[in-house]
Amino acid sequence: MTEVKKYSIDTSNLDFDPDKVRQQYIQERDKRLREDGFGQYQHASGDFSGFMEDHYVEPGFEREPLNDEVEVVIIGGGFGGLLTGAQLRKAGVEKIRFIEKAGDFGGTWYWNRYPGAQCDVESFVYFPLLEELDYIPKERYSHAPEILDHSIAIAKKYDLYRDTCFQTEVTELRWDEVTNLWTIQTDRKDQIKAHYVVMANGCLTRPKLPGIPGINSFKGHTFHTSRWDYNYTGGSSEGDLTNLADKRVGIIGTGATAVQCIPHLGKDAKELYVFQRTPSSVDIRNNAPTDPEWAENLQPGWHQERVKNFSMTVSGRPPKKAKSNQNQVDDGWTDVANEAEKMAREKPQTTAAEKKELLEIADLKKMQEIRARVSDIVKDEATADQLKAFYWQFCKRPCFHDDYLQTYNLDSVSLVDTEGQGVEQITPAGLVVNGKEYPLDCLIFGTGFELGSSYTTRAGYDVIGRDGIALSDKWADRPSTLHGISSRGFPNCFFLGYIQTGVSPNFTHMLGEQAQHLAYVIKHGRKIGAKTIEPTQQAEDAWVAVIEQTAEAVERHFAKCTPGYYSNEGETGNRNGFMNGQYGGGPEKFFQIIADWREEGSLKGLEIT
Ligand code: NDP
Repeated sequence: MTEVKKYSIDTSNLDFDPDKVRQQYIQERDKRLREDGFGQYQHASGDFSGFMEDHYVEPGFEREPLNDEVEVVIIGGGFGGLLTGAQLRKAGVEKIRFIEKAGDFGGTWYWNRYPGAQCDVESFVYFPLLEELDYIPKERYSHAPEILDHSIAIAKKYDLYRDTCFQTEVTELRWDEVTNLWTIQTDRKDQIKAHYVVMANGCLTRPKLPGIPGINSFKGHTFHTSRWDYNYTGGSSEGDLTNLADKRVGIIGTGATAVQCIPHLGKDAKELYVFQRTPSSVDIRNNAPTDPEWAENLQPGWHQERVKNFSMTVSGRPPKKAKSNQNQVDDGWTDVANEAEKMAREKPQTTAAEKKELLEIADLKKMQEIRARVSDIVKDEATADQLKAFYWQFCKRPCFHDDYLQTYNLDSVSLVDTEGQGVEQITPAGLVVNGKEYPLDCLIFGTGFELGSSYTTRAGYDVIGRDGIALSDKWADRPSTLHGISSRGFPNCFFLGYIQTGVSPNFTHMLGEQAQHLAYVIKHGRKIGAKTIEPTQQAEDAWVAVIEQTAEAVERHFAKCTPGYYSNEGETGNRNGFMNGQYGGGPEKFFQIIADWREEGSLKGLEIT
């Protein structure tokens, strides 16, 4: 067991012993660390490919294969692709083709239609292009259908439906040295040529399944939360799952998704069993309809200002403006940073080391509050104790909900806590924990998404660049890019998402900045009639060195964490992870680096022919 270092600043005014709590965090982490790390999960393919099925399209779609040429192919119709499409249309690009495996635009919000699906990040900063579309979200934390509608509205506004290939999966990208074009092959036998390719594959897209012994033996009905089967449950994303009234339902997982659908399952199922390995931290939601007066008084430019304000505050660098302008969002995401700031103000001349301690103490205080909230709501004391999260707030995705904990007060709902070990076995009849079998009619996997495998495994296809080099080989140990956007040997190919980039909990902000950046490069390429654009080896090496240097602090933080996908299931050093190998200086610094690069104007570090 690791000994915790005592704090150097005075903690005597706290009503708990911070060292004791930190010791408990380590115990809880150690209980869950396992040798197989990410290898514990089952890839949703082969016998498990049924978990990837699209329930939201009519079966039997067919079309003729395409054999043509466009200027830009964008792979993925979620916000990353949509924002890139919008930027490119604004730049006058006519021939853009989206290739998307779903039946429409929307990405995350196309797939995640489970009951109660909602965005945890404030809608006024999460929804992109609000001023461009002249739209104000209906509530502070929007529900999934409104976000899907907004995705579709962006596609319509920027005329992105033209030339799309939905229900189509890319199988390979291959660079042709002679024509300087990419050939995109798909599962519909297309052979599409493109001058530029943008890979906006998304990051939380491929459902992952737990590698529990007997996983394919269950004889009841089963599905993953991101492919909700309303034909079986009845109802809609608003709930009312009437078909479950006579069913014993089990759900594995208590992450951000499960926290949102469990209140509906608890309300509608005859019996609900929640199989928990690690409890989530669940703070107050406090949702409300948008105040029309507030909305009417917004001034032009308000959206970008609010988005930036959130990003700076959440990463502990509040904007230094007039007081009224500070922390505009001011919700559960920014509480820890807020409190640390407040404590620092009360203690002038705080050193950097002390500031770090203050941040930790603010986190400990916040988590004490969240744990106390569990006891206030959950009537059964033993159940309440099992629902208390003992880790730093940002070790896992923080959750916010005003009905989740209350669900455990229902007689029909049972929490089956596995003391950090997970479900033991799946049998034809149900699940086994601690030697006891729980018979079920329906088993739902709320077990999240694949991260930690290689980039091309998650994409589902390989990219064959110059001299036949495969991206899967070049990035076997870790990605290698300039600014997370492009990689040498793969000319005119651009990446969006969590690759060597500045990480923000507001995904759409990060995607918007990346889209703007790569559209700038493509725009420039078109202007000068470039045949190929790719980073120089020197520039790429320099960026990888920056990543290695700044990623260390991020890794040190996650090494303290109870495992999950944020900490790459405890596999520190695996650069294919979600947080590992990202730019550790925070999102705003990263956005500034790429904005300064554009401002400088010489496309430094890119080789253009
Ligand atoms: P997560 O990966 O966060 O959660 C998976 C859950 O499955 C965890 O509770 C995990 O436990 C559990 N689990 C895995 N294997 C086993 C096992 N063998 N036995 C028992 N339990 C097991 O996935 P989610 O779908 O909940 O969330 C994924 C992400 O999607 C979020 O983090 C967030 O980024 C995003 N999301 C965003 C929302 C938003 O508001 N914007 C809403 C919902 C999701 P353990 O913790 O022990 O690993």
